Amino acid sequence: MDPLRVLLLGGTTEASRLGHLLSPEPDLAPMLSLAGRTRAPRLPPIPHRIGGFGGIPGLIAFLEAERIGALIDATHPFAAQMSRHAAAAAKACDVPLLAIRRPPWRPQAGDRWTEIADMAAAAAALGPVPRRVFLTIGRQDLAPFAAAPQHHYLIRSVDAPPAEALPPRAEVISARGPFDEAAEAALLSAHAIEVLVTKNSGGTATAAKLAAARRLGLPVIMVARPPVAEEVETVETPEAALAWLLALRARAMPPHSAASLTRRGV
Ligand code: NAP
Repeated sequence: MDPLRVLLLGGTTEASRLGHLLSPEPDLAPMLSLAGRTRAPRLPPIPHRIGGFGGIPGLIAFLEAERIGALIDATHPFAAQMSRHAAAAAKACDVPLLAIRRPPWRPQAGDRWTEIADMAAAAAALGPVPRRVFLTIGRQDLAPFAAAPQHHYLIRSVDAPPAEALPPRAEVISARGPFDEAAEAALLSAHAIEVLVTKNSGGTATAAKLAAARRLGLPVIMVARPPVAEEVETVETPEAALAWLLALRARAMPPHSAASLTRRGV
């Protein structure tokens, strides 16, 4: 029997980890898809493609042409459009879909968070008085902060944003997580940061800035996640996604082959 062809929509550490877990599986043939937002992505040892599909019709055409038997949505929690397209295309092609969604960060004792619906509201929430702001929202969503030019921004993203996307008083650091709390606290102090703005991405790689803000008593403007389709089956970890794929594969196999997967604990 041919391996189950799996399209893995990535751009997260979970997608990369799942790529590593899938690579030695003889009954699964995965392909990782990236939007192309990062110039030098860290790739797992599986085939990959880069770039948009061309909306829902393009993704449907891809699923059919590549005979995809399972779709994994391991995109970033803020990549809501790709997730919507995945749900629609999977339904149209009757391809099983699983989403990997890491839990959002939750405020802890000592946190001074203001939870905000979107980036424009976050920029407005900084207020009229000039402040020193640590902005860790990636490089695609900076436009609303140009409308709040009175603040000084320390902007951190994996790749530097283009100069024309920056608010007038901006300093850029290019860095990729994971970050640790002591270094984050030192960075905040060295730049005399008064407030942080971040998306509620969740996960461990970039959570240290929140612990550092708590330690220093700094306020955080936390941009909430966009809503996702409720009906999509969801797990929290790459390991759970691997188990789901192996179980799906076992259901499609003749009984004697499926038994070998069962013996491996699937
Ligand atoms: P999006 O708004 O959900 O997607 C926009 C379009 O990009 C999609 O319609 C699709 O184009 C293409 N695309 C997205 N993910 C793809 C994938 N894995 N493979 C192939 N094409 C993909 O997502 P976004 O514009 O990338 O980002 C939105 C937010 O997510 C931003 O806040 C960003 O900072 C955050 N984020 C994204 C990534 C990432 O890797 N995408 C990583 C970290 C953070 P077509 O319609 O042409 O198929």
